[in-house]
Amino acid sequence: MLKTDILIIGAGLTGLTCAHYLAKKKRDFLVIDKLQEVGGVIGTETEGEFMYETGPNTGVVSHPEVADLFDELKNLMEFETADESAEKRYVLKDGKWEALPSGLIGGVLTPLFSFKDKLRLLGEPFRAPGKDPHETLADMVRRRMGESFLNYAVDPFILGIYAGDPAQLVPKYALPKLYNLEQEYGSFIGGAIKKKKKENDPEAKKATRKIFSVKGGLGNLMQALKTSAGPDKCLLGISNIEVSKTDAGYLIKGTTTDGKTLEIATKQLVSTVGSYALQKLMPFIDDSELDAIEKLHYTRVIEVAVGFKQWKGRPLDAFGALIPHREKRDILGIMFMSSLFEGRAPKDGALMTIFMGGVRRQDLLDLDDQAIKKVLEKELKELLELDSFDPDLLKIMRHEYAIPQYRADSKERYEAIESLQNEYKGLVLAGNIRDGIGMADRIKQGKMIAKTI
Ligand SMILES: Cc1cc2nc3c(=O)[nH]c(=O)nc-3n(C[C@H](O)[C@H](O)[C@H](O)COP(=O)(O)OP(=O)(O)OC[C@H]3O[C@@H](n4cnc5c(N)ncnc54)[C@H](O)[C@@H]3O)c2cc1C
Repeated sequence: MLKTDILIIGAGLTGLTCAHYLAKKKRDFLVIDKLQEVGGVIGTETEGEFMYETGPNTGVVSHPEVADLFDELKNLMEFETADESAEKRYVLKDGKWEALPSGLIGGVLTPLFSFKDKLRLLGEPFRAPGKDPHETLADMVRRRMGESFLNYAVDPFILGIYAGDPAQLVPKYALPKLYNLEQEYGSFIGGAIKKKKKENDPEAKKATRKIFSVKGGLGNLMQALKTSAGPDKCLLGISNIEVSKTDAGYLIKGTTTDGKTLEIATKQLVSTVGSYALQKLMPFIDDSELDAIEKLHYTRVIEVAVGFKQWKGRPLDAFGALIPHREKRDILGIMFMSSLFEGRAPKDGALMTIFMGGVRRQDLLDLDDQAIKKVLEKELKELLELDSFDPDLLKIMRHEYAIPQYRADSKERYEAIESLQNEYKGLVLAGNIRDGIGMADRIKQGKMIAKTI
């Protein structure tokens, strides 16, 4: 029987960020995970001269907490930001790649948006803010900017982040920065300008739009966190984990890799697992109390790493290429990883990550590897101007619970989480069931838990 003050379930980014900060505060804690290695969905593989990610590929330094964490880990790993070409993103329209405009002139000239919507945009700062906190993203964008902005800017952007559907996501939960811009300043454009002018707090300035990875891949971030938390703090490969409530806190039982029973008594318990795993993990909680949390839908996604020793297609001079749903293609987007970071592919080669599936294309998840390869062959030959499709690396990764979709039922989920945390002293329900789905959000949350627990 082990004893600890704080037990974290999940050695993913949320759990290990929390562990890193608890270690800094010299708190007594342990981390437990069913997997043999730390990282959760984050992982990096190397094959020959190719290095590819098996989960997320890049993050954004969108919260000051990300910059702080990388600074604190600088002796254990090398943080890297993407090449300047990452500023450019292609969007497919009528079968042709168009660069997503970033400035006013580009915005006026681009064929992505209709003339009517470009004119309408002039009136955006004067449009009244929405009143419905559960308005969908699609309705919000239509109301403020117009249909063509929804179809050729927001839809591909949402596919790139959520593999989701703007008609189902609710900005208050899914894109809180955008939602708050409208609520606080009354306009996206005016709000962004005013916010930038007001921004002289050095702490807030640490948040940028920079795209990040880590030398050697994101797996190294997780190894660095493990080292800084203390490798002996991570109990890995523990199966059948089950939590029960005791007078003093919680008792966790599990089975070690050599078949022994492990018992840990803890005063405080931090769960970072997905909503789908909670019921089995914590049978002491009544099913009805977990209902609203379990309703959280996770979309399935196929991720494919494709590498070429000698690249013969169109120039990969951007972050990547996004494909709006209305273009009716079988892939969601392509990230040009070897254009962003060094060491991902041989010198004249290319490494890219392709995403398929998502909320509106679950049918593709039924395809076997051979059929997926066929889809990729057709799509990449057309979209990247390849004469033939004979990659030197092709790794297909299926993610069953990839990205949670923050929809209109989020309010009830947040209330259920709050209510359970009040009912069970010392229990923290965290992870991507709340507070955002990106790596930056997970870092921010992990740090916050360590601060408040
Ligand atoms: C395919 C994919 C692509 C992504 N792309 C990006 C991207 O480009 N940029 C970005 O910012 N974010 C991206 N994300 C999101 C980002 O990866 C996640 O937000 C983040 O890594 C989640 O970290 P976490 O610790 O909250 O959860 P996880 O990584 O899921 O960790 C949870 C841990 O809990 C453990 N666990 C679960 N159940 C149990 C149990 N019953 N007992 C014991 N342990 C258990 C798991 O084994 C796991 O290790 C992507 C995610 C996926 C899946």
